[in-house]
Amino acid sequence: MKRVQGEWQVSDRVKLLPSSTIKEMTRLSNRHGAINLAQGFPDFSAPETLKSAAIRAIKEGYNQYEISHGSAKLRERIARKLREYNGIEADWEENITVTCGSTEAMMDTVIALTDPGDEVIVTEPFYENYVPATVISGARPKYVRLTEPDFRFDEEKLKEKFSSKTKLMIVNTPNNPSGRVFNKAELKLVADLCKDHDVTAITDEIYERIVYKGYSHLSLATLPGMAERTVTISGISKTFSVTGWRVGYAVAPRRLTKAIRKVHDYMTVCAPSPLQRAAAEGLAMPGSYYKSLRDSYERKRRFMLDSLGGMGFKCVEPQGAYYILADFTQFSKSDDFAFSNYLVRRAAVAVLPASSFYATKEAGKNMVRFSYCKRDQTLKEAVQRLKRALN
Ligand code: GLN
Repeated sequence: MKRVQGEWQVSDRVKLLPSSTIKEMTRLSNRHGAINLAQGFPDFSAPETLKSAAIRAIKEGYNQYEISHGSAKLRERIARKLREYNGIEADWEENITVTCGSTEAMMDTVIALTDPGDEVIVTEPFYENYVPATVISGARPKYVRLTEPDFRFDEEKLKEKFSSKTKLMIVNTPNNPSGRVFNKAELKLVADLCKDHDVTAITDEIYERIVYKGYSHLSLATLPGMAERTVTISGISKTFSVTGWRVGYAVAPRRLTKAIRKVHDYMTVCAPSPLQRAAAEGLAMPGSYYKSLRDSYERKRRFMLDSLGGMGFKCVEPQGAYYILADFTQFSKSDDFAFSNYLVRRAAVAVLPASSFYATKEAGKNMVRFSYCKRDQTLKEAVQRLKRALN
């Protein structure tokens, strides 16, 4: 193979990394002055409680390094929330590591728990960060496809993926991009296989507070025998609409926490100290906050399902999180990248090509993902633009 000049300076591992489609679509969106329904970040304000707490913390002088694995106050609050909401018993001193977003928690955990050659089971469609975390660790992703159209676990397909090389399985519930909230039977299947094969599970539960009527969030770590082999990852980004603050955490048994903390310390030293103080105040907000967050997303979801469905998109109804996967083949025979490019140019609305959530060739090419974590008026305007471009 011809060597590109200077290529030897870049590691083989990094050459294997795909670049982020989410960021690429955001760049395109900005270039075309589009409404960005590609990257999942709110365009509305964070709760006043958090904003004023962050400002106060900076003014009061919380501007130096925090304890590397997180302020005592924040870890105590996280432990309380884990007990009350998730049903997970965690010791704030032994089991919790605060990180720069759940993305860092995932990266630290995969690096801390895998060796080169290990296999990591990743469900398809997957959130785009799981594969880079695996590849950077020198481990190999093994993909298991959720069965469409309703994105369920298939017992036989999942069983086939477990081997003597399997070290980890990554589960994301509520799921990005499918919107699935995995039920008890599905999580029990995952738990039984992990126990049988001595595999550790990592669960990404960042959307745990955005779960629609009729569904409820279940943490894998609460299933019998799973607390000792599960790393539960979450954060404040989606719950408090502060995706740019980068405060997340990993909850794990003591022996795993020690390893995760080591990686975290060398990776970032600590998450931003004033924002950890604000996060602790956020976690002390009353239950009514979470109800209104969910009600507001319930309304946005209904509006988008009705509007997109009315136009001719075939939508997968999300059970949780704030994304809709929609089949667009009614409008175009071209693939998802071409269709997304068309929409950003013609409609000034950016969406995400769904094949970027799959490693399997051809998968997802008939769908795009809409993020609806936007103000009602933004969503209305986006729908009008889409109607104009597609009618
Ligand atoms: N979680 C968000 C999404 O899926 C954004 C994350 C990112 O920018 N990579 O769109």
